Amino acid sequence: MNKNLLDGVKETLLMGPGPSSVRESVYKAMGKPTIGHLDPYYYKIMNGIKEQLQTAFETKNQVTLSISGTGTAGMETCFANLIEKGDRVLVLINGYFGMRMKDMAQRMGAKVTGLEFEWGTPVDVGTVASELEKNDYKIVALVHGETSTGVRNPAQEIGKLAKKAGALYLVDAVTTFGGLRVPLDAWNIDAVYSGSQKCLSCPPGLSPVSFSKRAFKKATERKDKIPNWYLDIGLIANYWEDKKRAYHHTASSNLNYALYQALYDFIKEGPDKVFARHAEVHRYLVGKLEKLGLKMFVAEGSRLPMLNAVVCPEGVDEAAVRRKLLKDYHIEIGSGLGPLAGKIWRIGLMGHTARKKNVDTFIAALGELL
Ligand SMILES: *Cc1c(COP(=O)(O)O)cnc(C)c1O
Repeated sequence: MNKNLLDGVKETLLMGPGPSSVRESVYKAMGKPTIGHLDPYYYKIMNGIKEQLQTAFETKNQVTLSISGTGTAGMETCFANLIEKGDRVLVLINGYFGMRMKDMAQRMGAKVTGLEFEWGTPVDVGTVASELEKNDYKIVALVHGETSTGVRNPAQEIGKLAKKAGALYLVDAVTTFGGLRVPLDAWNIDAVYSGSQKCLSCPPGLSPVSFSKRAFKKATERKDKIPNWYLDIGLIANYWEDKKRAYHHTASSNLNYALYQALYDFIKEGPDKVFARHAEVHRYLVGKLEKLGLKMFVAEGSRLPMLNAVVCPEGVDEAAVRRKLLKDYHIEIGSGLGPLAGKIWRIGLMGHTARKKNVDTFIAALGELL
């Protein structure tokens, strides 16, 4: 018999930028029997996911569903459907994921303006307001929680500006959804995408997406065809609509069970309680880090609770600490991306991972290594 490599998979405390640690209830949900993507019982589960996503996103949007693919597939769904060639798009950039948005929008043929802000600081509302007064844009795109730096951007304020400017407002809530409020209707968000493996604590593979009426209209009434067949929101919405249920692709029933269960647990615990837990455990971590003499990368008012960027002290081998944490303690944390590589650690407190006992375990290990 060959050795089975899966015997070597170890339980890891996932405290990086995602995936986060998965709850037992979600593993159990995933182990339920696979059923067909056109099974009427599966349609019920799809409806359950839609309703729970509407609750979690605080929206009435009919087009609220899960895309088969990770957060980046959600990003591509939003940009591919909403951009028509030559559209002017304003992308607000203060980290790696804002850059990815810009690249994607350019590939779709948009005339993109990337308005850049220093990494580690939030997008500045005044600068965005004056740009929107100077130029007309069809779409304004913002990353709510910039996972590369740990910065929370002023998504509500930018939503007001986008509305005033008559632009569609596209928001990346991959990191924030499930850990911070993302109320779509109240914040004028026209298109949003997230990911299953961050604050929802599912395995990666699904991207919750929601389109407002206005956004869906632009996507379905445009003259040229959407350049991406797999992510065509009109076709996908037909699969998610009770009266239509037209085959589009073979959605993974098991991954969607996981998403259903994660949303079920989120709503059962109570969204406000979940948000408060993230905030509290974040403060607890920051206190412990500061006791170890470490500095946070982001100023206090702009920190994300679920993603904590910490400056690696002078003389400490950033990568060696991460390697030892993983090998000797089975704890995963993240490194810096792009210009922040080698300079920061990124410590995730996402969803199920956001517990004080996990912080204690991590701090004890880090204390020994430093
Ligand atoms: C993780 C992440 C993504 C990309 O999601 P994948 O699931 O890795 O494709 C996009 N945006 C933000 C803000 C993220 O944190």
